[in-house]
Amino acid sequence: MINTKQFAYVDTYGCQLNESDSEKLRGMLIEMGYEITYDEFEADVAIVNTCAIRQNAENRVLGNVGELVHIKTPRKKKIIVFCGCLAGIPETVEKIRESYEHVNLVFPPNEIHRFPELLERAKTERKRVFIEDSKEYKIVEDIPKHRDSTIKAWLPIMYGCDNFCSYCIVPYVRGRERSRDKEAILAEAKSLVEAGYKDITLLGQNVNSWGGGFPNLLKDINAIPGEFLIRFMTSHPKDASKKLFQAMAESEKVARHIHLPFQSGSDRILKLMNRGYTRAEYLDKIAYARELMPELVITSDVIIGYPGETEEDYNDTLKLVEAAQFEAMFTFIYSKRPMTPAAKLNDTVSAEEKQKRFENLVTIQNEISEKKHEAYIGKTIRVLVDGEAKGELYPLKARTNGGRLVHVVGDLSIYGSFVDAKITHSNNWALFGEA
Ligand code: SAH
Ligand code: SF4
Repeated sequence: MINTKQFAYVDTYGCQLNESDSEKLRGMLIEMGYEITYDEFEADVAIVNTCAIRQNAENRVLGNVGELVHIKTPRKKKIIVFCGCLAGIPETVEKIRESYEHVNLVFPPNEIHRFPELLERAKTERKRVFIEDSKEYKIVEDIPKHRDSTIKAWLPIMYGCDNFCSYCIVPYVRGRERSRDKEAILAEAKSLVEAGYKDITLLGQNVNSWGGGFPNLLKDINAIPGEFLIRFMTSHPKDASKKLFQAMAESEKVARHIHLPFQSGSDRILKLMNRGYTRAEYLDKIAYARELMPELVITSDVIIGYPGETEEDYNDTLKLVEAAQFEAMFTFIYSKRPMTPAAKLNDTVSAEEKQKRFENLVTIQNEISEKKHEAYIGKTIRVLVDGEAKGELYPLKARTNGGRLVHVVGDLSIYGSFVDAKITHSNNWALFGEA
């Protein structure tokens, strides 16, 4: 038998944790002897690492999984793998079983460490392989990773979520919260800095509840010698303590950015959402953070149209957005998700009304973002050049310390380094400047 090269393709949807999981999948594939391809038709193994957060994400993923039927050829055995959060929803897995017969292997996020064994089974067994969540929420260290970038790195510090926000499917598909050991995190951070990474993002559904005390972890990573930035996401407002903001302020390598989703400005809705804070507490926290760090960039997430959201609740959200003055905000229309308590509630807000509220809020936030970005014009700021762009006018992409995107004019040789950029103009989503 001629030993020809085998190719694997990994398509990733959703959040940074999924990006990080895909780096593990690629790492395991390379260890098994596969070559990574970005062309699904070339693939011998095609993996879709899916996202379950909203129904439209699910629809998009399922459409693309359906299309993968075309990569199968009569001559060559190809394996199609369905993993990630959608593989943790029983109804969705049933749909894959019934209507997506070209999918050979299905496993949920918590079984990712078994991937090599499962792939082998899918290749050798005649039957399709369906794996359920073992509900043993372990942390498996030393899974090889193949990182996408040589500048920016994801560093998961915890997995799962125990917050059970009433609308959210994450606790059901990612399981119970568990924290990686401090030693493992510090060792990984050190090796990333030694390998030349300049931007390290600590990942978790709620990094503030990391088992060993998140503020101290920030300080410990900050103490690693080298020029690099520490980012983290996501923070839950209920656990974002004064101690956290103090640790940020004291640690010069911690980026002056916090993504702090508020979800709603109405105390009534926040309570129904099981978020554990009030609008006043939220606003107090960000005021305190800005007092300590005047240059802090705050971004957020909001959900429009939660079941029962009244005009008054919505107005409270508008008022919070006006008061908070976020640099950027992601606005989501409420999506009913299986297994969640909110799915049992009557969806009282019509689709048209939700759309109207959504567009209005986006317009208001765009104006705020535009104004915030205008304030950078004329200033020279330190940015990390972390991407190449297709456009000829601005061949490079960079991020400010606070995480804002900058399109940069400059020589390609500065890719991967910290440089000073003079900001010349801006719009509501980015800055433009010269290195
Ligand atoms: N763990 C993070 C983020 C999780 S999901 C946190 O708690 O902040 C990312 C964002 O998706 C959430 O902040 C929320 O705004 C949004 N989201 C989650 N479930 C949703 C749903 N059912 N419908 C609409 N948006 C949702
Ligand atoms: Fe979902 Fe809430 Fe957990 Fe975030 S904190 S993942 S929104 S349940």
